[in-house]
Amino acid sequence: MRLAEGGFVGYVVAVLVGLVLAEVATLITTIYLHRVLAHKAIRLHPALTMFMRFGTWMLTSISPREWVAVHRKHHNFSDIEETRTAPHRGVLEDHDRQRLLLSP
Ligand SMILES: [Zn+2]
Repeated sequence: MRLAEGGFVGYVVAVLVGLVLAEVATLITTIYLHRVLAHKAIRLHPALTMFMRFGTWMLTSISPREWVAVHRKHHNFSDIEETRTAPHRGVLEDHDRQRLLLSP
Protein backbone atom coordinates (compact mmCIF):
# COMPACT_ATOMS: atom_id res chain seq x y z
CA MET A 1 0.00 0.00 0.00
CA ARG A 2 1.46 3.31 -1.02
CA LEU A 3 0.70 6.03 1.49
CA ALA A 4 -0.41 8.49 -1.19
CA GLU A 5 -3.04 6.02 -2.36
CA GLY A 6 -4.05 4.79 1.08
CA GLY A 7 -6.87 7.23 1.64
CA PHE A 8 -8.15 7.42 5.21
CA VAL A 9 -6.31 4.28 6.31
CA GLY A 10 -3.07 5.69 4.95
CA TYR A 11 -3.52 8.88 6.97
CA VAL A 12 -4.31 6.90 10.11
CA VAL A 13 -1.19 4.78 9.58
CA ALA A 14 0.88 7.93 9.02
CA VAL A 15 -0.41 9.48 12.26
CA LEU A 16 0.24 6.28 14.20
CA VAL A 17 3.77 6.01 12.81
CA GLY A 18 4.34 9.65 13.80
CA LEU A 19 3.09 9.01 17.33
CA VAL A 20 5.30 5.92 17.70
CA LEU A 21 8.36 7.82 16.47
CA ALA A 22 7.60 10.69 18.85
CA GLU A 23 7.35 8.22 21.72
CA VAL A 24 10.65 6.59 20.73
CA ALA A 25 12.28 10.05 20.65
CA THR A 26 10.90 10.75 24.14
CA LEU A 27 12.25 7.46 25.46
CA ILE A 28 15.63 8.16 23.90
CA THR A 29 15.72 11.57 25.55
CA THR A 30 14.65 10.22 28.93
CA ILE A 31 16.78 7.10 29.00
CA TYR A 32 19.80 7.80 26.81
CA LEU A 33 20.39 11.56 26.98
CA HIS A 34 19.21 12.05 30.54
CA ARG A 35 19.97 8.89 32.53
CA VAL A 36 22.87 7.41 30.55
CA LEU A 37 24.81 10.46 29.33
CA ALA A 38 23.95 13.34 31.66
CA HIS A 39 23.78 11.50 34.98
CA LYS A 40 25.64 8.26 34.20
CA ALA A 41 22.96 6.61 36.32
CA ILE A 42 22.55 3.51 34.15
CA ARG A 43 24.56 1.61 31.58
CA LEU A 44 22.94 0.01 28.57
CA HIS A 45 23.94 -2.92 26.41
CA PRO A 46 26.23 -1.60 23.66
CA ALA A 47 23.72 -2.56 20.95
CA LEU A 48 20.96 -0.61 22.70
CA THR A 49 23.33 2.32 23.17
CA MET A 50 24.06 2.34 19.44
CA PHE A 51 20.33 2.16 18.66
CA MET A 52 19.64 5.13 20.92
CA ARG A 53 22.57 7.08 19.51
CA PHE A 54 21.30 6.44 16.00
CA GLY A 55 17.77 7.35 17.11
CA THR A 56 19.06 10.60 18.58
CA TRP A 57 20.53 11.53 15.22
CA MET A 58 17.54 10.47 13.18
CA LEU A 59 14.64 11.56 15.38
CA THR A 60 15.81 14.57 17.36
CA SER A 61 18.79 16.15 15.56
CA ILE A 62 20.07 16.99 19.03
CA SER A 63 23.76 17.15 19.76
CA PRO A 64 24.10 14.82 22.77
CA ARG A 65 27.09 16.77 24.06
CA GLU A 66 25.14 20.06 24.01
CA TRP A 67 22.06 18.46 25.58
CA VAL A 68 24.16 17.05 28.42
CA ALA A 69 25.91 20.39 29.01
CA VAL A 70 22.64 22.31 29.15
CA HIS A 71 21.04 19.70 31.38
CA ARG A 72 23.91 19.68 33.85
CA LYS A 73 23.76 23.46 33.97
CA HIS A 74 20.02 23.17 34.61
CA HIS A 75 20.70 20.98 37.66
CA ASN A 76 23.35 23.38 38.93
CA PHE A 77 20.79 26.20 39.04
CA SER A 78 17.48 24.41 39.52
CA ASP A 79 17.56 24.48 43.32
CA ILE A 80 18.47 28.10 43.95
CA GLU A 81 15.81 30.65 44.85
CA GLU A 82 16.16 32.61 41.62
CA THR A 83 15.21 29.63 39.46
CA ARG A 84 12.95 27.61 41.73
CA THR A 85 9.44 27.28 40.40
CA ALA A 86 6.82 28.80 42.64
CA PRO A 87 3.04 28.51 42.63
CA HIS A 88 2.58 32.26 43.02
CA ARG A 89 4.50 32.91 39.80
CA GLY A 90 3.14 31.97 36.43
CA VAL A 91 4.72 29.33 34.22
CA LEU A 92 5.92 31.94 31.74
CA GLU A 93 7.58 34.00 34.46
CA ASP A 94 9.36 30.90 35.81
CA HIS A 95 10.47 29.99 32.31
CA ASP A 96 11.78 33.50 31.64
CA ARG A 97 13.72 33.56 34.93
CA GLN A 98 15.36 30.20 34.21
CA ARG A 99 16.11 31.10 30.60
CA LEU A 100 17.82 34.34 31.59
CA LEU A 101 19.91 32.64 34.29
CA LEU A 102 20.88 29.69 32.08
CA SER A 103 21.75 31.63 28.94
CA PRO A 104 25.49 31.84 28.29
ZN1 LIG B 1 18.66 15.39 35.30
